[in-house]
Amino acid sequence: MTRRVGLLGKPLRRRHSQVMHDAAFAAAGIDARYVLLELEPEAVEAAVHEARGPDWLGLGVTAPYKRVVADLCDAVDPDAAAIGAVNNVERTMDGRLVGFNSDAPGFRAGVELAMGHSLDGVDVAVAGAGGAAHAVVFACLTSGARRVMIGNRTRSSAEALAARFEGTGPGAVTATALDDPAFAHALATADLAVNATTVGMVDPGATIPVDALPVDATVFDLVYVPSETLLLRAARARGLRTANGSEMLIAQAAIAFERWTGIGGMAGVMRTAVAPLLADPAAGA
Ligand code: NAP
Repeated sequence: MTRRVGLLGKPLRRRHSQVMHDAAFAAAGIDARYVLLELEPEAVEAAVHEARGPDWLGLGVTAPYKRVVADLCDAVDPDAAAIGAVNNVERTMDGRLVGFNSDAPGFRAGVELAMGHSLDGVDVAVAGAGGAAHAVVFACLTSGARRVMIGNRTRSSAEALAARFEGTGPGAVTATALDDPAFAHALATADLAVNATTVGMVDPGATIPVDALPVDATVFDLVYVPSETLLLRAARARGLRTANGSEMLIAQAAIAFERWTGIGGMAGVMRTAVAPLLADPAAGA
């Protein structure tokens, strides 16, 4: 029996996850495939129910279904419940579905690699307050960040995100509008600035004025298509340390794969498999 993991989302523009997981299944000698399930909202509940069957290992979940699928699972990991979104689901041996979130640990792995040290004690400025920003802020606070300032185009979403995570870790979390001087003020002392918006991928431009950052700051852009956004180009030109979202993408996939199969250490296989897509955005669009 060929087993399956299905990616639920709409639209599904990218094949990066499919390429990484299929390469890892092959390398591990597991008879399984990662299939793309671009479904209308009314078809999601039935698809999740079907994944309780023995031929399924689990599900991947992307926009706009990360919240709705959490409600359809039999259980949700505490971290995913705190974040309010699942980006993967594990089918247990007895056919129960457990939602989890690998974006937060994936971000932690990617950003710590970029900075060269842990998030402990770090001052962070995050642009964005959507699903990915929830995982980023949670990862920062639970990893001991000293201060997290959230700046979002829609101020109320930033404030709601800060309120959600207040008291989550030892650090302080505050929020403002992206264009408020308070955000630029926070950038002036930030060790790490993160773009967790779709700007740079969907809309042109950049969310963070890199001139406002200290010279030893790291700029981390969750966007990985294109591989170098305007933000990263400007940050690099200023001599700042930079990274795009590709290592986060690989890390979160390897975490999910281990959950589905019990087999860890697949990041290298996945990195090699996805490299051509990352180098050629048109191939992954
Ligand atoms: P989302 O939930 O749709 O949130 C979008 C965010 O972008 C919101 O904060 C939104 O602000 C902001 N935004 C959109 N257009 C904007 C504009 N023109 N100017 C300023 N802000 C704008 O999306 P998401 O799921 O969080 O994803 C965000 C990004 O992270 C995407 O590029 C995604 O590919 C990337 N991502 C990468 C990884 C990885 O592994 N590397 C994982 C997850 C996500 P408003 O609230 O004002 O609308």
